[in-house]
Amino acid sequence: MSIPNKFKKRIALIILFTSVFYLAMVPSLPDEGMYPLSEIHKIDLKAAGLKIEMNEVYNPDDVSVVDALVKVGGCTGSFVSPEGLILTNHHCSFGAVQRVSTTQNNYLEDGFLARNKNEELEAKGITCRITDSYEDVSDIILGAANSAPDIASRTKAIADKINELVAEEQKKDPTITAKVSEMFIGKTYVLFRYKTIYDVRLVYVPPRSIGGFGGESDNWIWPRHTGDFAFLRAYVAPDGSTAKYSKDNVPYTPKRYLKVNPSGVDEEDFVFLLGYPGRTFRHQPSQYLEYQQKILLPYISKLNKWMIDLYEKRGENDPEFALGISSKIKSLANTMKNYEGKLKGLGRLNLIENKKQEEKDFYEYIKANSELFIKYGNVLTEIDEIYKDVFREGRLPLLISQLKRNVVLFQLASYFLEYENELSKPEAKRKTIFTEEKQNELFKTISDVYSNFEPALDRIILEKILSDMIHFPEFAQNKYLQSLNMKPEESYIQQIVDDFYTNSVVTDAAAFKALFELDRDSLNSVNDSFLNFIRNLNSIETELEKAKNLRDGKLNVLLASYLDMRMEWQKKNFIPDANSTLRLTYGYVRGYSPADAVYYSPITTLKGVIEKGKGVGEYKLHPKIKELYGEKDFGRFKSKKLNEVPVAILYNTDTSGGNSGSPIMNAYGELVGVNFDRPYEATINDFAWCEDYSRSIGVDIRYILWITQKIGEAEYLLKEMGIEEISG
Ligand code: GLU
Repeated sequence: MSIPNKFKKRIALIILFTSVFYLAMVPSLPDEGMYPLSEIHKIDLKAAGLKIEMNEVYNPDDVSVVDALVKVGGCTGSFVSPEGLILTNHHCSFGAVQRVSTTQNNYLEDGFLARNKNEELEAKGITCRITDSYEDVSDIILGAANSAPDIASRTKAIADKINELVAEEQKKDPTITAKVSEMFIGKTYVLFRYKTIYDVRLVYVPPRSIGGFGGESDNWIWPRHTGDFAFLRAYVAPDGSTAKYSKDNVPYTPKRYLKVNPSGVDEEDFVFLLGYPGRTFRHQPSQYLEYQQKILLPYISKLNKWMIDLYEKRGENDPEFALGISSKIKSLANTMKNYEGKLKGLGRLNLIENKKQEEKDFYEYIKANSELFIKYGNVLTEIDEIYKDVFREGRLPLLISQLKRNVVLFQLASYFLEYENELSKPEAKRKTIFTEEKQNELFKTISDVYSNFEPALDRIILEKILSDMIHFPEFAQNKYLQSLNMKPEESYIQQIVDDFYTNSVVTDAAAFKALFELDRDSLNSVNDSFLNFIRNLNSIETELEKAKNLRDGKLNVLLASYLDMRMEWQKKNFIPDANSTLRLTYGYVRGYSPADAVYYSPITTLKGVIEKGKGVGEYKLHPKIKELYGEKDFGRFKSKKLNEVPVAILYNTDTSGGNSGSPIMNAYGELVGVNFDRPYEATINDFAWCEDYSRSIGVDIRYILWITQKIGEAEYLLKEMGIEEISG
């Protein structure tokens, strides 16, 4: 198959536009903005309120504030001492704290404090990344994409080129981790070099009644009273190189750490944040929002609710199970509420209608100019065609990914299928885990998966997802699903699931592992109803992936044109959607009005913690907080204006998931708080920013320090951050 002419023309245009991008556009930048490093110098931050030089914030040739930033797993953090001390969120360290907790020694509930470096515990599962440098590689990536033999291979050509560049970079300098990030789909690609820190340790994590105060009820809500912060420490080998956890490692010396300002901020003060926002979708067409509204958001939020109920019931009288599953429940609940907020926002704000109108408007503009019309006339209809296919597939791809994510029997069987597939290759070409030499490692991984396998619970989830599958209208129309020969009856699903969990070899660890000793012919003749079912599902997935690759290849070209059309029409620059790369956003400490006649001011205080506090549950009030509040023991952390210790602040910056743990900095680049959330109305921010409702929530530095000093009794940390002389 060769590239159809319409795509060839479009590709030529992209090359033209990409090469002039960033240089020729009108320099007006939008108010919204998660500015990439390359754009920071184009914003007049001084006019906005910054009191230091721009070069102190970001200077590619010298040390600047940006060097104090660190990506902590999927979150952000910042160095706050010369000894690798990292300040981030409680919820970002939650999984690591859960992993070192037991029902007898429950750090999650009671908090964790290392009184000195020797007592710090490994934060298993957390690695950190520091952005070292970056380079525009758009020409190289698009060059490879445009030489792909056909549009279906475009996605693969891009992925292959990215892998090649990454491998080359890492060969040049094995101490770095390279990553190519797509900034604008089909237009700009940037290679980032990161230093990775593998040895991260827990230093101080407040009790859950402080770090998670308000629980799920207050999550995505303002006014907020959560002390969502934690201290970690980065370690490296004695020679400064990155290394896995080892007793011999030493604290990392960051290039730069942030000065902590214990005086905090006031309403209307200028603030800016640096961080690693995960994903936003503002440059997607209206059909993408429709897909979110009709398919993804409702299905996932309902399924998550169902799973939370299931796990909570299972854990009711089993504290060990409840502790082990707490991190998963938290993440399911977090996504569920975010998606519900987005669904409400999509309805309330008419975003899809507005976007459709915008598309109509710029189409009209293009139509009026024959040259532009030749270039872009078909873009919108072609995008529409592609989405017809997406809607036809409906929830099927989601259902398959949810099976993989949540059904352990499915995860186990996937190892077998992969092994079966890898066996067809010569040993030297196989993934190392499937070579004879690494068989013990494979068995260890499989045993770890078995340790989470609870057949009675697992089968309930499989049954639920399969019965969802047969009840959705797309089941009847779907050619792939037809090939599974599933009867659309509940009793049929029960019967096959019964069979799977009673008879499949996968339910028996020893028998299952024995399959990995068989040769290829014997493997192919293994006749197990569950494995056969998974084999079929796997081929459906392969078909779906093929179709998706073809669509992505076309969209890679079309969405680049879509953006060009908007640029032509609005005569302005855009900021790329968030993609987990380092961004700057700025704004002011500011309240908002979420509904008619309601106004929320932007600073909460300890008074609110006491008001909300209860004996047990999500609002459990830490007894010491009550005591200290009674004694008005606020140390030096009281706001004179409010006569209280400030707890959380609200500001109109542009943030998303991944900005958790971002340092909130004042006009002097000093840390005055830690970002951790957005209000419910601002969850829609991922689709569209607006001054009316886009707000971010952070924990005030005064509360962080007050808790660390008075509850954690970790005076040494305050000293380490250089604020001992003035602390009361
Ligand atoms: N609290 C959010 C989350 O856990 C992160 C910050 C945000 O999305 O604004 O996903």
